Amino acid sequence: MHIVINIICWLWVGWVGFNLFMVALAATVLPVHQAHFDGFRARLPTWLPELLTSDEIAAVISHEHGHRHHLHVWTNLALRCLFLNPGARRRRRQEIEADDFAVAHGHGRHMASALRKLSSHPDDLSRAERLEQM
Ligand SMILES: [Zn+2]
Repeated sequence: MHIVINIICWLWVGWVGFNLFMVALAATVLPVHQAHFDGFRARLPTWLPELLTSDEIAAVISHEHGHRHHLHVWTNLALRCLFLNPGARRRRRQEIEADDFAVAHGHGRHMASALRKLSSHPDDLSRAERLEQM
């Protein structure tokens, strides 16, 4: 019995290590295809200035800082380490929280126009609509 518990503990340590490695990989090596917060800093794709105004880029950065403020990367990592999937509903709520952070810092209108330029996904368009009504 002791050996089984030992194996399970080492498998879990391996799983946690794998998840930490994936966060580190995303923060260092992986190319940036879309704006996101990698757990340490906001990362923006090089093509973003071709599409967005400087005010919209500031709004996107503020949104990404909202993810930092609310510790989204780290809470999702903790959930994955406990074999819990953060899930689409939680991710949508996190996007709204990050949007609200941008609104609180005066970037609501520009966040809405950035969302409309960056995505045609219904969730993103509904976020833009929500921001426009605030
Ligand atoms: Zn976001």
